[in-house]
Amino acid sequence: MPFDLHSRLAERRCAHLYRQRPLLETPQQPEVIVDGQPLLGFCSNDYLGLAGHREVIRAMQQGADRWGVGGGASHLVMGHSTPHHELEEALAEFTGRPRALLFSTGYMANLAAVTALVGAGDTVLEDRINHASLLDAGLLSGARFSRYLHNDAASLAKRLAKAVGNTLVVTDGVFSMDGDLADLPALCATAKASNAWVMVDDAHGFGPLGANGGGIVEHFGLGIDDVQVLVGTLGKAFGTAGAFVAGSEALIETLIQFARPYIYTTSQPPAVACATLKSLELLRRETWRRDHLNRLVARFRQGAADIGLALMDSPTPIQPILVGSSERALELSAALRERGILVGAIRPPTVPVGSARLRVTFSASHTEAQVERLLDILAECWNRLAEEPEADA
Ligand SMILES: *Cc1c(COP(=O)(O)O)cnc(C)c1O
Repeated sequence: MPFDLHSRLAERRCAHLYRQRPLLETPQQPEVIVDGQPLLGFCSNDYLGLAGHREVIRAMQQGADRWGVGGGASHLVMGHSTPHHELEEALAEFTGRPRALLFSTGYMANLAAVTALVGAGDTVLEDRINHASLLDAGLLSGARFSRYLHNDAASLAKRLAKAVGNTLVVTDGVFSMDGDLADLPALCATAKASNAWVMVDDAHGFGPLGANGGGIVEHFGLGIDDVQVLVGTLGKAFGTAGAFVAGSEALIETLIQFARPYIYTTSQPPAVACATLKSLELLRRETWRRDHLNRLVARFRQGAADIGLALMDSPTPIQPILVGSSERALELSAALRERGILVGAIRPPTVPVGSARLRVTFSASHTEAQVERLLDILAECWNRLAEEPEADA
């Protein structure tokens, strides 16, 4: 019996770590139907509410009419079409970098960039709570791989001192499960002192952060000499799908020549690129979305502090509530769900053991009244949970 899948699954269930996929029966929007139940959702990454924007939908429909549905081939064969190319040029202009390269997913963009830049004889240094795709990319690259303490430039400096070959420092821009910002000014200065390059995956920063939605590099005013490899994903605040890497001419040509996850895959449907061109325009222009989102986040943090919830040091629409054990995180999310609120419980191995949490996220499409409703119901459920003794060991 080499594959004893049943006992693996049973173990996971016993550890309160079993994963289930909620079935969404509506588009991405605050009021959703999930598994037949109407709920108010606070767990989407559609931070600016663009996933269901009429103009973005129309751009995709018109794109499909003009360009068809499938990408048809890989970019290097015959799948690199005009909308892909236009989107790359628009993303380069948006990020202030010479060029940008489009990918079908962020996971692939990260695998591509890291494995094309470092290999055996090189070094990759990553924040220990980086997104799984970055950690996987580091391992796959074959470079010496080491993780520094979260957001700790001194811990990075120690590892840089022992680095060999080309050295790439890799970090999330906004940490996806904590919502805090990478301390890029310190990390970039530390890397520069050792002639290392910095790669930032700003999946959650593009859109919410920066005066024009340009993410963490705009927020801190950092250029291509500080962050040589800039990754953004398009499935979050952009509301569509895909990802990009922005950087120098030589960087992008290197990816086109050597990055296997770029070369050996079909291009994304051109109509998706048409939709992203429109959402990029809205993301930059409709600044009220960022302003409204920031107001909602501020109101939530104030209200959560009044209830006595343990929040994290996050200025972003990702507002985790630390609970501790997986069992209690599940209990709290189930209690919220009974009262019509959908918030995801995030458990190990996605986060460290003992730091299970509810990951609350906000969108510009939420109203202030919806945030008040979340706070009222959180207060009720939290107080009830606090009265019960913890059963978990
Ligand atoms: C979501 C996410 C990714 C993966 O992007 P996809 O386009 O969903 O594959 C990569 N990095 C971070 C930090 C993310 O949050």
